[in-house]
Amino acid sequence: MNMNSTILDRIRARREAAPAATVQAPSQAAGELRAQRDALAERVAELHWDLGGMTYEMAIRDHFRLDVLIRRAAALQDRDAELGEVERLLAAADEGVGGDCRSCGAPHSRGAVYCWKCGQPLMPQAASAALIEPLSNGTAH
Ligand SMILES: [Zn+2]
Repeated sequence: MNMNSTILDRIRARREAAPAATVQAPSQAAGELRAQRDALAERVAELHWDLGGMTYEMAIRDHFRLDVLIRRAAALQDRDAELGEVERLLAAADEGVGGDCRSCGAPHSRGAVYCWKCGQPLMPQAASAALIEPLSNGTAH
């Protein structure tokens, strides 16, 4: 009984059925990012599965094609890195939350100057220092 070929055949069938994932430059549009993330996540899962099936195939035949495995692993790593980057961008874009108020803990949007809840200034200290510095330089002259 030869079950080996059926596994690889199924992998091949899946690969051929799946549309080629086109990876574009990250866009600011969250909808586009989400679509890109979904496509990448699907591709990463597929490559994972593919690599696992291929390794299994080689193991049971006791014939490893290391070059093939390395190439597949590299492709998977690339897609995985892209997915990570898209997820990071998406998290940053989600609702535009910039952080929490240090006084009351209310979430605020990026670029907010005062807390909408308690009215405390939200400017980070680094930004305030950067704003003050040119002023003191100006008055010194
Ligand atoms: Zn607050």
